[in-house]
Amino acid sequence: MEILYKSTRDSSKKVTASQAILQGLSDEGGLFFPERIPTFDKSLSELSKMDYREVAYEVMKLFLTDFTEEELKKCINNAYDSKFDCEEIVPLAEADGAYYIELFHGSTIAFKDMALSILPHLMTTAAKKNNVKNEIVILTATSGDTGKAALAGFDSVPGTRIVVFYPKGGVSFIQERQMVTQTGKNTCVVGINGNFDDAQTAVKKMFADEALKDELASRGFQFSSANSINIGRLVPQIAYYVFSYAKLLAEGKISDGEKINVVVPTGNFGNILAAYIAMNMGLPINKLICASNENKVLYDFFKTGTYDKNRDFSLTNSPSMDILISSNLERLIYVIAGEDAKRNASFMKDLSATGKYTIDDAMKSKLDCFYGGYATQEQTLERIAKLYDETGYVIDTHTGVASYVYEQYVKETNDMTKTVIASTASPFKFVGNVLKAIGQDFDGDDFAKCDKLSEVSGVSVPRAVEEIRNAKVLHDKVVDIDNMQDAVKAFLK
Ligand SMILES: *Cc1c(COP(=O)(O)O)cnc(C)c1O
Repeated sequence: MEILYKSTRDSSKKVTASQAILQGLSDEGGLFFPERIPTFDKSLSELSKMDYREVAYEVMKLFLTDFTEEELKKCINNAYDSKFDCEEIVPLAEADGAYYIELFHGSTIAFKDMALSILPHLMTTAAKKNNVKNEIVILTATSGDTGKAALAGFDSVPGTRIVVFYPKGGVSFIQERQMVTQTGKNTCVVGINGNFDDAQTAVKKMFADEALKDELASRGFQFSSANSINIGRLVPQIAYYVFSYAKLLAEGKISDGEKINVVVPTGNFGNILAAYIAMNMGLPINKLICASNENKVLYDFFKTGTYDKNRDFSLTNSPSMDILISSNLERLIYVIAGEDAKRNASFMKDLSATGKYTIDDAMKSKLDCFYGGYATQEQTLERIAKLYDETGYVIDTHTGVASYVYEQYVKETNDMTKTVIASTASPFKFVGNVLKAIGQDFDGDDFAKCDKLSEVSGVSVPRAVEEIRNAKVLHDKVVDIDNMQDAVKAFLK
């Protein structure tokens, strides 16, 4: 059955899945949401016999209904291949009574690879389907992680080019090395003299610049965005929750239909929203545990029903969760508002005008399946240390936030439901803080620290780190904010 996508702010806007992927955002600023959430057409026991690519197909085909079987399978096979450093794509590790689903075995050793390795293929397929002849140009501003994951995903994909801007001096050593050594004739990485917000604002301006759009169109190009509100990123993320359930079932850890809890270290609310959608498809989930760091807007929201971004912003040791506006939460608000686009739009208007909004009790009662918690930076490091001391298993700081919140949840509720924790980054990616947590930090560069972590954890240094250790710098351009547009034009010459 065909599924169309409606805007969360204007219900008269309805597009196909492929159009939603090409467009990213609806014209009036709404996000696309499926007009209904499909249910599985395979049993959990059938799914438990499948590998990752097969499960991904079974999930994605239900949402991307205007893609043919052949197209979708091709996208999946191109995405989840030897770019991942393990056969299983997402292994499940058991430690201290919980199951860590390791979403970090792709090119950039963080979970964004799960979606960004397939988005380019979904996008080029969607372009063909909609008779788009232009080459797609992805423009991205990054604070570190997304840029590299997008570069790796779009590297050498025919019909696409990608330009990434990052704040020179504002990203970690490993993050910068990952980006400036990026191969692929269709990739361009530019440092800017400014911070992330400057870069982001300039990129948004380019997207809205009609003259630039016309000039590029006349030369056969059009812009698109790879950011996390694209349903082409959301839908692939549903698959690994289904896969983790299927795997627990296959291994006899749970019985068919038994409910599980899911814990997700959360920033923009994309990853946990995918778990919420999986639950609404019929995946047996008891609680969705939303773990925040010190930027605990979401924790406060689940507690009080008020979303309020008016507060100090903290830079923490889980930087990919340092966010005060969780863009994907809008989709949840839309659902609990009874899919009333007008009502959702008015909350979002309040958010942009006053920085906050409050939902009513009826809406709040629909959030019973969520539990919000948070961890301070110290609590995060303590949790990493404790898990390591007791089990030898090392987790990164983002996963540390989730693990701490889960421990608190069990203390508070005594709920012994089997639990899956989304492990969103390799500990090697945040090696300095991880070594500090387990009492092994020393003065040295990040490569030396990775060697140390490998030694104490018994886990070999990931390929992603080895690859950049001796790689040549291929991008060394640094420009002022005012010259970003020229940098894009020069690359598209
Ligand atoms: C992006 C990111 C998150 C947050 O995910 P959201 O989908 O934005 O909630 C958590 N951990 C890591 C390592 C990330 O890169």
